[in-house]
Amino acid sequence: MSRTAEEVWGKCLDVIRDNVGPQSFETWFSVIRPVSLVEEQGIVKLTIQLPSRFYYEWLEEHYFTLLRKTVTRVLGSGGRLMYDIVVEKGNAETGSKGAHVTLPAHHSGGSDDEVEQIDNSLEDAPDELFDPSLLTGGPRYLNQPVRDSTLSLPGIRRNHPINSQLNPNYTFERFIEGDCNRLARSAALAIAKQPGRTSFNPFLIYGGVGLGKTHLIQAIGNYARAHNNVQSILYVSSERFTTEFVQAIQYNRVSEFSLFYRQIDLLVIDDAQFFGGKEKTQEEFFHIFNALHQSGKQIVLSADRSPRDIEGIEERLLSRFQWGLSADMQPPDLETRIAILQRKASDDGIAIDQDVIEFVGHNIKSNIRELEGALIRLLAFSTLNKRDLNVDLAREVLRDLIKETRITMSIDEIQVAVCDYFNLTVDLVCAKTRKREVVQARQIAMFFCKELTQNSLKTIGLHFGGRDHSTVIHANQSVMNQIETDPKYRQMIDEVRDKIDVRSR
Ligand code: ADP
Ligand code: MG
Repeated sequence: MSRTAEEVWGKCLDVIRDNVGPQSFETWFSVIRPVSLVEEQGIVKLTIQLPSRFYYEWLEEHYFTLLRKTVTRVLGSGGRLMYDIVVEKGNAETGSKGAHVTLPAHHSGGSDDEVEQIDNSLEDAPDELFDPSLLTGGPRYLNQPVRDSTLSLPGIRRNHPINSQLNPNYTFERFIEGDCNRLARSAALAIAKQPGRTSFNPFLIYGGVGLGKTHLIQAIGNYARAHNNVQSILYVSSERFTTEFVQAIQYNRVSEFSLFYRQIDLLVIDDAQFFGGKEKTQEEFFHIFNALHQSGKQIVLSADRSPRDIEGIEERLLSRFQWGLSADMQPPDLETRIAILQRKASDDGIAIDQDVIEFVGHNIKSNIRELEGALIRLLAFSTLNKRDLNVDLAREVLRDLIKETRITMSIDEIQVAVCDYFNLTVDLVCAKTRKREVVQARQIAMFFCKELTQNSLKTIGLHFGGRDHSTVIHANQSVMNQIETDPKYRQMIDEVRDKIDVRSR
């Protein structure tokens, strides 16, 4: 037999590509390298190399079934998958990359115990020395005019602490996880544990306003600080970076500005979209970025849209952003909204009836900031006016925030409308078949259920023959991709939408 690991993995990738969204494919699978293919007594072992333990954990958690099925399909029932993980120890300054650890994929017979053992063998590198004085008190560089000469000379690093500018409330503990932010949160946590030592450098989070970007990137800083994982941390918005840089030019202190930033171990830049069109600032940031990256320092960024969509960002900076990981944040789904409201209420020690929480969660959908705002407004109103906090009051107080939802449809109604359009039966669409036209109708129906109903992804999946919530996510992604790229498909979606509209009247 003369198959090579490359050929076999190539075939696996073909299968995987058909089953995950393009962004997930790019993020999780395109970086994997096939290492070897060994055949012994009917067992064919394919070893693939993963860039870090985080990848391993993520794949096992999220793509375990897919990988198992793929390997069985490509190699037959004797197929086994092995992971070769590059254990990142030490930092890039010394260039020590540590060892490789090979372990079986969970599904190739490895028990949970085995994985536990393996985890231990991958213990994190020892923490670096930590000087707490670096992070507390002392002159606040960013609060002072740049002309203060004590700020940023390279030699004074240990005597003049950097104020991290972090808000201590933005922690992982207070950040509620949901489908909308899972990838971003997991990656953020991995980075917080090993800043500069994962393959996610830079790490960029993007998404609309009020979705938790600032919270999450600061959580990285707060965690790294609490666990002594880095010495110096700085959180700064790109706007502020720009202002300080302009001042530095005015006062002829650009080199100090630049040296100041080069001593940061974990640099967190918020709202990077403000760099758009600011050429000089971008150039400075580009050099700082390179210096930090080369010495294994962690860079974390947020932006309100994908970097490609930010106008006036230089190509070379864009390409740097692509070195690491970009993760997007989506508006929160109903479960996440409710969980956030419950959490906020309990954090503030306030008891709120579940029906009020659900009412707010159902009706305030756009983002988390608005959700918080609604809750605060409601609490203030009920306290100041000594009114009972109930659904009627919520309806009254939040009237202007609640957009009357035009239609509330059920999953069943949507299924019937979509099936009508495609001339298929609902039973067939819910069945196991993977026939092209059935898959298409199923995906479109799932897409509309997500858009037009209040149901969770899990519930939607269950209504489609007991499918998993990740199938619904994938369906939604796939429909949106096709809407974007294929005008005919878009037209078809509009027609289906009309059909649904007609039924709902
Ligand atoms: P962005 O930077 O994306 O505009 P923020 O990080 O400022 O959004 O978040 C807005 C508010 O919502 C903040 O008060 C933040 O603490 C809160 N928030 C956002 N996401 C979550 C979450 N997943 N869990 C709890 N609170 C959140
Ligand atoms: Mg923000």
